[in-house]
Amino acid sequence: MNKKNLINRLYPELLLITFFVLLIAAMPKEKKMEYNKLTSEEKRVIIDKGTEMPFTGKYVNYHENGTYTCKRCGSVLFNSGDKFDSECGWPSFDDAIPGTVKKLPDPDGLRTEIECAKCGAHLGHVFYGEGFTSKDTRYCVNSISLNFTPKDNDLMDTGYFAGGCFWGIEYEYNLLKGVKSVKVGYMGGKTSNPTYEEVCSGRTGHYETAEVVFDPSQVTYEDVAKYFFEIHDPTQSNGQGPDIGEQYLSVVFYKNDAEKETAEKLIGILKNKGYKVATKLIKAETFWKAEDYHQDYYSKSGKTPYCHVYTKRF
Ligand SMILES: [Zn+2]
Repeated sequence: MNKKNLINRLYPELLLITFFVLLIAAMPKEKKMEYNKLTSEEKRVIIDKGTEMPFTGKYVNYHENGTYTCKRCGSVLFNSGDKFDSECGWPSFDDAIPGTVKKLPDPDGLRTEIECAKCGAHLGHVFYGEGFTSKDTRYCVNSISLNFTPKDNDLMDTGYFAGGCFWGIEYEYNLLKGVKSVKVGYMGGKTSNPTYEEVCSGRTGHYETAEVVFDPSQVTYEDVAKYFFEIHDPTQSNGQGPDIGEQYLSVVFYKNDAEKETAEKLIGILKNKGYKVATKLIKAETFWKAEDYHQDYYSKSGKTPYCHVYTKRF
């Protein structure tokens, strides 16, 4: 048989093979989604719906700013702003990014299981009615089911507030959702690089001030400023609590007109409610960070503030 005859004889088969090659190439690709390779411990939790030992996971006591993603498929699941300390031993969130987490009845007939909506990876369980946060919801997630992507610090905003002993203001701001970090220092005085002793002498004119760095995608400047009026007594005109003197006066240091207008609006609301607000509005100047032993004072000492307590005023 010569070459031409062979091609003619095989023609129907060649046509059929070509048809199937084209058909496979045109098939939808969803089912071929590439997942990250999992270790046997990851598989035990993510695929076989196991549970990691409490208090052992990487993200239990983790407070970085960013997003938590699915270990298996990389889908974004939770924002760090929704994470809270439940002391249950697993990372806890009071909300998930909409549409990313699937809830289904657990085979135990009691709990509600949560899975990655995209790939079905087992995440943990969701509980309601425990009263941890205002959302009354706790997504209890295995650390091992998650990866973390830090958020760029350039997207952060900063507010400056003085309201008595700066240890107390720092302590309270660290409890506000969306606050990334708080530093204590001095602002509004006449001298550069003041020391605590110089400020206490009353001769420099500085106010004990907190620098509050927050994530504007989680909390607005107005929320942060509103909170300020609720964690100290804005009606005390000579200091705060037992701390009397200029360095303890109530001040909002505004960086721009928008912040000033926000503070004026909030003071107006309080005045309408009958509060005789003594808070001053002063243009922000250089923030002089205080000595290291003043930073994180309450978390280092394990004590709690003596004159700052959250009081709802709005
Ligand atoms: Zn996934």
